Amino acid sequence: MRDGHGRIIDYLRISLTDRCNFRCIYCMPEEGVCQLGRDEILSLEEIERLVRVAAGLGIKSIRLTGGEPLVRKGVEGLVRAVTSTPGIQNVSMTTNGVLLPKMAGDLKRAGLNRVNISLDTLDAEQFRQVTRVGRLEDTLAGIDAALEAGFNPVKVNAVTVRSLDQDFLAFAALSIDRPLHVRFIEFMPVGASDSTGVDGAGWGKRDVIPSDELLGIINERARAAGMPELVPANDKPIGWGPARYYEFPGAQGTVGFISPLSRHFCAECNRLRVTADGKVRPCLFSDEEFDLREALRAGTDDEVRGVLMAALGAKPDEHHDKVGTERTMSAIGG
Ligand code: SAM
Ligand code: SF4
Repeated sequence: MRDGHGRIIDYLRISLTDRCNFRCIYCMPEEGVCQLGRDEILSLEEIERLVRVAAGLGIKSIRLTGGEPLVRKGVEGLVRAVTSTPGIQNVSMTTNGVLLPKMAGDLKRAGLNRVNISLDTLDAEQFRQVTRVGRLEDTLAGIDAALEAGFNPVKVNAVTVRSLDQDFLAFAALSIDRPLHVRFIEFMPVGASDSTGVDGAGWGKRDVIPSDELLGIINERARAAGMPELVPANDKPIGWGPARYYEFPGAQGTVGFISPLSRHFCAECNRLRVTADGKVRPCLFSDEEFDLREALRAGTDDEVRGVLMAALGAKPDEHHDKVGTERTMSAIGG
């Protein structure tokens, strides 16, 4: 599939649920989102059909996300179905990791290729503050479980926020002794209203730490700690990604920088997103949505294709610095 700006679109991110076992302050309100009803979200069979139709159009990679994808019942069976869909070459998942100690082995056996685990702070107190209900040790155990189950690469994604004052050097150092690929992602004021520029967590545009500045901060702290600096990595970990990768000399893993704002990668955008309630979004930052659910419930495969193609045709050339959206990330599917 080629969009109107000449980009090949072969990557589909599917949100399996808007529910989550965390309540991260930048992702959803404290009381949780107004949860979608059972028949509002796509059934597993509808998702399988969507993947089959999308693969027929040229989608090769699928990412399962949410909300927290591992709280969706039957996720292992869905992974099995998606990985065995003709044309699908890669299936990955973004998770907070809490359920991985229980599920990593089954997910690996079901054919899941890769996991990204989200972890924003290595301080137990701050972890509780950011996730509202989560425990740092659970996510750390999830990372161990992913490595033990044999996932490779295992990526750890940290959203960087100026007012959080995270220990960036300790994060980067996670990549030294184990094959972990730590990626720093610029905070996106997604749920922020454009007028205030501030979201529910009180974070706004001023909290975005441009990746170049962050690289400088890490190297300065490394020098002060008597450690070597990060240097551009020789190899990029497998898996498409807009990150720029660095490494500590001799380290087993890498450190990546993802800069959706300071160095947006819209020109290389290769994706469409589907929300848990079956809306296709041509762009994370645009509130334009196309209704797949109706086509999946009452339409032919041709009609499902038609909705995907309409969304493809509506992909903007770039996000033009419009970062406020009507839905929060947990509702869109991050
Ligand atoms: N629950 C899973 C998890 O946390 O990995 C998957 C869904 S979560 C919405 C996906 C990713 O979006 C997480 O890494 C989270 O940190 C990120 N995210 C959520 N809100 C964000 C924001 N405003 N800016 C940047 N990243 C955000
Ligand atoms: Fe849940 Fe992930 Fe959002 Fe945190 S970032 S509330 S773990 S969906």
